[in-house]
Amino acid sequence: MVTLRQVSKTYRRGTGTIHALRDVSIEIERGGFSVFVGPSGCGKSTLLNLIGGLDLPTSGDILLDGISTRGFSSGDWTDCRRHKIGIVFQAFHLIPGLTAEENVALPLLLRGTRGADVDARVADVLETVGMTGRRRHRPAELSGGEQQRVAIARALVHRPGLILADEPTGNLDSLQGTAIIGLLRMLPERFGSTVILVTHSQEAARQADVVWMMRDGRVVGKTPAVVTV
Ligand code: ADP
Repeated sequence: MVTLRQVSKTYRRGTGTIHALRDVSIEIERGGFSVFVGPSGCGKSTLLNLIGGLDLPTSGDILLDGISTRGFSSGDWTDCRRHKIGIVFQAFHLIPGLTAEENVALPLLLRGTRGADVDARVADVLETVGMTGRRRHRPAELSGGEQQRVAIARALVHRPGLILADEPTGNLDSLQGTAIIGLLRMLPERFGSTVILVTHSQEAARQADVVWMMRDGRVVGKTPAVVTV
């Protein structure tokens, strides 16, 4: 589903070079709940951003469903995110002036879907995340956990096969965090989606199908299977 082939990413900072990712080659299978863990600064967010095309590798290739993204233009990546990828961030990134259901409808409107189909899909995903009763609320009227539920609904509304979540529980208390992990956890079984999560949460790692361990820009281990690099 997601393949990284010798992917490296460097950033320039002043006169120095930061090696955020060093020669990462991994294969993430379709339909599972994969969790990346490792110390702060080891490259987890960079990895997720590259898989979602929010940033580009310095070298190497990322394949989605076996298709190389090496030649992708920024328009190709935008198109890919509008149809195949849903992204959830730590900071929710909801639009304050819009209601929950208006926020969730946005990805569909951006790709040109209109009419009753939008309403039906929005209602459906808000139901999935348990936010039907609060669909007319604006983000400021919702708790952090509720805002993240809306953000997850927005990431699901275009029925992506791949869901990327970067520290989605980082701004939540442990009870709300556990509920959000539970919600993400059920997506592979319920919808066949592949979920890739970057987190510090032990709870999330315990529930993973595969835990990938990172250190200093490298993937250094994988459980329950064998070390891959
Ligand atoms: P993690 O998510 O594991 O905390 P990151 O992927 O955010 O790690 O960062 C990996 C390394 O790359 C860090 O040293 C970080 O400071 C650096 N880095 C990340 N993004 C940028 C950027 N846009 N510009 C410069 N350095 C960056």
